[in-house]
Amino acid sequence: MTTRKEFNDIVHGLRDYLELHRTGTAGHWMKHERRKKEQKVVPSGSPERSVPVRKAEKTPMTLEAIREELGECRRCALGKSRIKLVYGVGNPKACVMLIGEGPGYQEDRQGEPFVGPAGKLLDKILESIGLSRQKVDPDWKWVYITNIVKCHPMTDPTNPDARGNDRPPLPEESDTCLPFLLRQIKAIGPTFIVTLGASAAKTLLPTTQGIMGIRGKWVDWTREDVGPIRLIPTYHPAALLRNPNWKKDVWEDMKKLRDELHKLHPSS
Ligand code: SF4
Repeated sequence: MTTRKEFNDIVHGLRDYLELHRTGTAGHWMKHERRKKEQKVVPSGSPERSVPVRKAEKTPMTLEAIREELGECRRCALGKSRIKLVYGVGNPKACVMLIGEGPGYQEDRQGEPFVGPAGKLLDKILESIGLSRQKVDPDWKWVYITNIVKCHPMTDPTNPDARGNDRPPLPEESDTCLPFLLRQIKAIGPTFIVTLGASAAKTLLPTTQGIMGIRGKWVDWTREDVGPIRLIPTYHPAALLRNPNWKKDVWEDMKKLRDELHKLHPSS
């Protein structure tokens, strides 16, 4: 028998579909719904929630091998306009992995994620809870940073030298690049993932909620044969530069991460 909640879900789903059909994006909706079915997220606090484990698996590819397979990638349109492919930086066996949406102007030129003003803020945020993108001791404090897409999404790709030319990746760009991110996650085997911004969270999580509704909430995330990994969404540092009053929310989220790390490493 259909419960009231199931009935409401069906009604909301149909309403979303009709709206997206009207705006011509129903194809993306169907793809998104298919993807949601392939994913499993167990909310924190649920009896199903498990202690983080690295899934028993065949030997994952190394980060170097994945980078080699990407090569001079042109699998999506972003490859045509980028200057440098921005793969990732940090500990190849990091306990904490941070995932943003995509490279910006500075990153496109330097080939490293989060090196502009938002990156400097991210470094400060990490430092506030004892983490770093630079090699540090003990090893678990050395994080890995990457993005959903590895090439700079531009509003006007014919003008890569323009400033303020950034945009979030399109669903088809994220979908094309995602298998490489999943392999990176599998290669690293992090205990915790922090997604930075709405775009990264929505690409990895089966949610229709905005970033305000999901930030700061732990989920046990799994995708295909990757995970379960504890994941917490928070704001993108670039958003904090525009809305400094969100910094306190990010600080709350970082304290949650710090508390979990201290449970794992009580003597550090
Ligand atoms: S964004 Fe990813 S899939 Fe697209 S060209 Fe760059 S590396 Fe390839």
